[in-house]
Amino acid sequence: MSTIPLRCIGAVTHTQVVAPWATAAGEELARIRGVCLDIDDTLSTKGKLTAEAFAALWDLHEAGYCVVPVTGRPAGWCDQIARFWPVDAVIGENGAFAFFIENGMRRRLDTPGAYVGGREQLQGLGAAIQQRFPHARWASDQAYREFDLAIDLCEDVQPWQQNDVEALLALCRAAGAHARLSSIHVNTWFGDYDKRRGFEGWLAQGAPGVRSVVPEPDEWLFIGDSPNDEPLFASFRHSVGVANLARFLPLLETPPHWLTNGSSGAGFCEMAGRLIAARHGTDSRSEAPAWMNRAASNPVLNR
Ligand SMILES: [Mg+2]
Repeated sequence: MSTIPLRCIGAVTHTQVVAPWATAAGEELARIRGVCLDIDDTLSTKGKLTAEAFAALWDLHEAGYCVVPVTGRPAGWCDQIARFWPVDAVIGENGAFAFFIENGMRRRLDTPGAYVGGREQLQGLGAAIQQRFPHARWASDQAYREFDLAIDLCEDVQPWQQNDVEALLALCRAAGAHARLSSIHVNTWFGDYDKRRGFEGWLAQGAPGVRSVVPEPDEWLFIGDSPNDEPLFASFRHSVGVANLARFLPLLETPPHWLTNGSSGAGFCEMAGRLIAARHGTDSRSEAPAWMNRAASNPVLNR
């Protein structure tokens, strides 16, 4: 998977200073009980879910953390994630719904504000997008979406230019739709929700799917990499960006509190390793799990 060069994502508008993840206090991290995570370019690396990152997800799960991906990926992906991954629930399509397993069966909870009536409006918006940008292509996962349109910026197409990305976002918003930029897509939808509302809507319903005790609001941590993660950076007491978020920082009004040293999956492993070590009072690199040390030497993860 390619990434969008900085020149393609907009002009510098803010100067942000974010603390290194390594400086987070161990005592503060030891209180965290739940981990929310973005998937693309946060958990995944160059379009792959590495063995190290998936192992880190399992380690969090087995250590008793409540684990909830919050992603822009479609319902079709989220069905598989809820069933097969070591997670308590998954929030999909930028907050439109939550999927989870209850009594052995996959259930769903649609976010208030996410409505099917948006489909007709989406068709009209899609036509306008194709007229204005003849080279626009829907993301390869569009067929598995229920609530939004995803325009591919660089996943299976040549990277878009900065001016076109900005014009696309403006066109969607002028039509009354929400539009969010991720590292690979522009997602646009009608309906009053985003990643934050999707997560909070699931929490407000009692966090169905959680294996044990639901963490208190200030016991959650979120980790992400892109502007579509900003609503969660803004609402979580503990928020982390993986190192590749740095190119987007000038676009964020509310950055995360910390930034990992490693990019993408390596940054996720770095976060999970410190979190688990802090819980067990062994918060030092020499005490890190074996997979974390493997990840530190993996050339794919250390680009
Ligand atoms: Mg992402």
